[in-house]
Amino acid sequence: MINGIPARIWEGESESGIKVHCYITRIAIDEKETRVEEFARELWEMEARADDLDVDETDLGSCCACGKTGADVRAIVMLDKRGPKPGHGWGCAQCGLPMDGAVYVLCDACFNAKAEAKFVCVGYPKENVRIPIAEITEPFDHDMSKHPEAEMFAAAQREH
Ligand SMILES: [Zn+2]
Ligand SMILES: [Zn+2]
Repeated sequence: MINGIPARIWEGESESGIKVHCYITRIAIDEKETRVEEFARELWEMEARADDLDVDETDLGSCCACGKTGADVRAIVMLDKRGPKPGHGWGCAQCGLPMDGAVYVLCDACFNAKAEAKFVCVGYPKENVRIPIAEITEPFDHDMSKHPEAEMFAAAQREH
């Protein structure tokens, strides 16, 4: 393990610009839901899962919605807010975002129920340090001018 779970997942996906771009949070999706059509939402709604990590790295600490711990806490969700601990969250190689984005984790039940997180991770998820999600307020998002693929999708959407 080098950079912790979020960093590993990020690196695993960063070879494809589109996949990288899909690391948008459910909160971001919810905010945009009134003006984004279904196909675009599906495109953006991609969650990182810890399924393919080594066994000793699947402990993500407690679910940020219900507080339970265990092997089914495995969904990592990236928020469009700056996290509490620089270098320990998500980032984007394509538009040069540092790894400072806030993340939270959900158990399978909360993930499937689209439960709202009450907390975000401080440091890597498995460190199991959490703060209330309301304390995370500084915007943190992609530089869309460096994501031409997003504009392509938006244009395709307008034509429909
Ligand atoms: Zn839960
Ligand atoms: Zn980006």
